[in-house]
Amino acid sequence: MKKSLFKNFSSFLFLFLTLNAIHSLYAEEAKSTGQNTEQIKVLLIDGQNNHDWVKCSPVMIDTLEATGRFTIERATVTKSRVADFSPDFTKYDVILSNYNGDSWTEKTKSDFVKYIKEGGNLVVVHAADNSFPNWKEYNEMIGLGGWGGRNEKHGPYIYWKDGKVVRDESKGRGGSHGRPLEYNVVVRQGDHPITKGLPAEFLQAKEELYDRLRGPGENMNILATALAKGGSERHEPVLMTITYGEGRIFHTVMGHDSKSMLGIAFQETLIRGTEWAATGKVTFPPVTSETLPADTAASRDPKDIKPARHNK
Ligand code: ZN
Repeated sequence: MKKSLFKNFSSFLFLFLTLNAIHSLYAEEAKSTGQNTEQIKVLLIDGQNNHDWVKCSPVMIDTLEATGRFTIERATVTKSRVADFSPDFTKYDVILSNYNGDSWTEKTKSDFVKYIKEGGNLVVVHAADNSFPNWKEYNEMIGLGGWGGRNEKHGPYIYWKDGKVVRDESKGRGGSHGRPLEYNVVVRQGDHPITKGLPAEFLQAKEELYDRLRGPGENMNILATALAKGGSERHEPVLMTITYGEGRIFHTVMGHDSKSMLGIAFQETLIRGTEWAATGKVTFPPVTSETLPADTAASRDPKDIKPARHNK
């Protein structure tokens, strides 16, 4: 009896060690291909916008999903659904806003502020920074915004001049743009996880470039700017990060329409910015200037985005 127990135990031990070794091998393999990198849960909010959100949201969804890193749920908050819009934000690693519309209920707004303050995260795309002009906390989260009656009461104009950030308190409306153009995005802070591994300059597909945005701009980092030719003629913020409480916010002014969202500049910065907002890190490999050049506005169907081999 004792002998057989011992025999069984050694068989068990052998089996255990073998399985363990096999498991480690698979774990190593998964680690090197990035397949064990946990999925980031994203809530995309759309449903109202002065832009074509019906066409734009699918491009963002396809772009993020093509990487294999994100799972996306979508809340389409049309005018008739605003009163009932009350999601559990805490289920998501990051909220992706493609929303420029009616005010949410006071409860939803206060849930959202609490979520971000306590370490929830946000990505703001293009006209989402037009939304909620008189929601103080939202303006603090996005750093800068435009339209909706924004003016000097909402904060200074903030732009880049002679190698530094200018806070310009002069009076005037917030939010403007010149005619659509291909614009050169210049990285101003290359040591941030989002911009580290991007070319120093790259061209975005033709679209309008926001200028003269205004806002509190507190706890805000300007990662990249572009010269608003035919607009303010200033170097305007294009990519920003903001911290609000424990929350991380990534704000991109790119993404005017579904065509310019095919711009590799838009796609790669959205991918990296969303991962950074959700996790504080970027595991995607560097983007070369062949993929994202400065002399051609490169575009790509999201279908051609390869699932990433994440750098751990
Ligand atoms: Zn636009």
